[in-house]
Amino acid sequence: MKVVKNYIDGQWVESKSTETLEVVNPATTEVLAHVPLSTPSEVETAIQAASDAFSEWRETPPLTRARYMFRLKDLMEENFEDLSRIIVEEEGKCIDEARGEVRRGIEQVEVAAGIPSLMMGYNLEDIAVGIDEYVIRQPLGVFCAIVPFNFPLMVSLWFWPYAVACGNTYVVKPSERVPLSQEKLFELVDEADFPEGVVNMVNGAKGVADTLLESPDVQGVSFVGSTPVGKLIYQKAAENGKRAQCQAGAKNFIVVMPDADLDRTIPALVTSFYGCAGERCLSGAVLLAVGDVYEPLRERFVDAASKLKVGYGLDETVQMGPVISKAHKERVLGYIEKGLGEGAELILDGRGVQVEEYPDGYFIGPTIFDEVTAEMTIANEEIFGPVASIIKVGDLDEAMAIIDANPHGNASSIFTSSGKSAREFRYKVQAGNIGVNIGVVAAMAFFPFSGSRDSFFGDLHGQGRDAIDFFTEKKVVIERWF
Ligand code: NAD
Repeated sequence: MKVVKNYIDGQWVESKSTETLEVVNPATTEVLAHVPLSTPSEVETAIQAASDAFSEWRETPPLTRARYMFRLKDLMEENFEDLSRIIVEEEGKCIDEARGEVRRGIEQVEVAAGIPSLMMGYNLEDIAVGIDEYVIRQPLGVFCAIVPFNFPLMVSLWFWPYAVACGNTYVVKPSERVPLSQEKLFELVDEADFPEGVVNMVNGAKGVADTLLESPDVQGVSFVGSTPVGKLIYQKAAENGKRAQCQAGAKNFIVVMPDADLDRTIPALVTSFYGCAGERCLSGAVLLAVGDVYEPLRERFVDAASKLKVGYGLDETVQMGPVISKAHKERVLGYIEKGLGEGAELILDGRGVQVEEYPDGYFIGPTIFDEVTAEMTIANEEIFGPVASIIKVGDLDEAMAIIDANPHGNASSIFTSSGKSAREFRYKVQAGNIGVNIGVVAAMAFFPFSGSRDSFFGDLHGQGRDAIDFFTEKKVVIERWF
């Protein structure tokens, strides 16, 4: 059985760790590989390689650094289908969703290739007579990423292309559950011929993350994952004097107003709640039906969701894959039990879904609870599975009060044909990513991926201009020449 290697200082190296975990295809339950829980000294070697590479890399002109991104982009395009297939095999999402993920990953590399413009500073002549002042941006050193399972390829690309284009060097820790698309990505990094030590990858779990966070040679960390871990990493980064941006868990509310265009709303809702089997930090979780829309919305949403084809994502006709693991399936089923126990009405039950060819796969069909109240556990906690909760509300104010009472603030959407309702929603709702007639509020690479309250710890977000601020230090120069 293959054991995934680390990529350190431009070389593929076997971990000496005796501890490994299985990487399992969640649809077929086939063991695809083993992943090592790398040792602290292996992490330190990677950090050292990145530190050693820094001074030469930062002196490499931004335009030259950008050319590595162009090469990587070309290689990713050439390997587009391979990358997509690996994502399906290790994570379970459908092939089209995986293609979307690869496309979004490539877009990060494309945007980072604009670094000569993005990294410019600014200036002002004559701040006093004969004195000029300017700001230059400089890289800081070694950064690292600690990333989640649900977008195995894309999430590290939210960070390292910007960091590296800015002249920093990097260590990626993939999710121990899905290391294979990162392995493939690093084969392409190797082929793009980045100088040794500029981008490194070390496999493992908490232990690897801890060594990265404790190292005095790491300047900053980008984390994406659950809220409890995000909070912990933010604290640990602060204790160790590092910059940190921690994108965390979510509970996303979608408001449907009586004046919404249901023909367009329903398909957007189905994608939002059931795309990637609900394992998306931007997935809809609670549907807030305002006033009269409740009856038709409920009926049409159930009808559309019940028609989704569940199965192995490599089959092009499948519309929803499994959840990531047996343990996670049990966790989601536990929430369904909890919903029933708390008195919600199960109007679409995905528990008994059968996928003939893969009877042991971690499948759960689309599930919908009605008669949910704002106090119930299923309306409050992140389930991260294909489970929707419908709450009937009287008006927009009531809907917004429910949204703001939840501690998460990742994304929230409104479906309406009223500009006034949309503006009020955008103006007041405490979520970092707002959708108007959009079900999945996925920002493009050139905008920051926001998130607020318990869904984000930090101030500078990933991607967009925030990325350049996060990965550079601003130096102010004041000059007078006699
Ligand atoms: P997770 O928090 O379990 O793991 C994320 C990463 O942290 C992994 O690499 C893991 O190895 C590491 N880790 C776990 N425990 C740790 C610890 N105690 N100390 C240090 N590192 C630790 O998250 P997951 O289950 O892989 O991903 C799903 C979660 O990610 C969901 O909550 C989802 O909402 C969230 N997510 C958020 C965003 C966003 O942008 N806000 C995007 C994608 C996923």
